[in-house]
Amino acid sequence: MTYRTQLLPDEPLAGYRGHICFHLDLSGPSEVTASLNAGYTLGDSRAYRCPRPFIELASEITGQSFLELVRLHSMWPLLSAVKRGESFQQEDVLLATEFGKTDLFRTSRQRAWTCIECQAEDLAFWGESYWRRAHQVPGQIKCPKHGVPLACCSRGLINTGNPDHAEATGPEELSTREIQGNVWIDAFVEICSNILENRFPINQVTCRNRLLKQLEGIWPGKSPDERTYALLEKLTDVFPLAWRSDLDRTLAKVKLQGYSGPVAFFRGSNARLSTMRLALFMLTAFDTADETLKAMTELETSPTALQ
Ligand SMILES: [Zn+2]
Repeated sequence: MTYRTQLLPDEPLAGYRGHICFHLDLSGPSEVTASLNAGYTLGDSRAYRCPRPFIELASEITGQSFLELVRLHSMWPLLSAVKRGESFQQEDVLLATEFGKTDLFRTSRQRAWTCIECQAEDLAFWGESYWRRAHQVPGQIKCPKHGVPLACCSRGLINTGNPDHAEATGPEELSTREIQGNVWIDAFVEICSNILENRFPINQVTCRNRLLKQLEGIWPGKSPDERTYALLEKLTDVFPLAWRSDLDRTLAKVKLQGYSGPVAFFRGSNARLSTMRLALFMLTAFDTADETLKAMTELETSPTALQ
């Protein structure tokens, strides 16, 4: 059996590697890389001491450039958005490290997600089902194309084969009408998808300044710390617990007073937030996806001093 030499539209690199793994009858990602290295170097023993990373091999197999693979077939544009906001160079530097290369295969979620209707369509059209990047967007619980609840399975299964082999099922706690119809969740996913697809750079200092100003407008009578706690309280009100637990385990039980990460960020220390957390806090304050994206990505017209 042989594997495809092209990625399918919106197929994540990890899924493509899983496809190769299945067709070569291998056990997992490291065997795929070892096997492809051996194939390329025809027994050169140096290949085992210094194997070429999968992304390089994939670029050679598919004829797609390294950057094209990163931009269209990984979560990197979303995960690295805050780095890109500091400087575009920093993103390149990070990408060249082992850590950066490993990051290209992160699904950014605790489980791997798929749509049963997409699977059926893909089997009919492409002759096989495949994982889609749009389904791995953090917080995504329904198919953007079919509007049905997504199914999920253990994260590792994306590494070993196509989704129709994975026996994914819809998690009950996220498939209720109340959660599937939650407009805050829709808005959050819209923000993340936009950052992913448009590769927006996110500058945390700009974001924080705009967020603090927004909070001041909403709660003028409160102190800065009281505003932070009020924001966290609103966050736990509008985003259901089951969904928050799936997004980020530490967000499951937000103990308002002891939740130090965001508090440090709002106080203006060097604390950094992930793109997803930043999006979550900004959305809670700005209410709509449009307003939040504007606040997160619009460039400064004049330099803003650090607060
Ligand atoms: Zn679908």
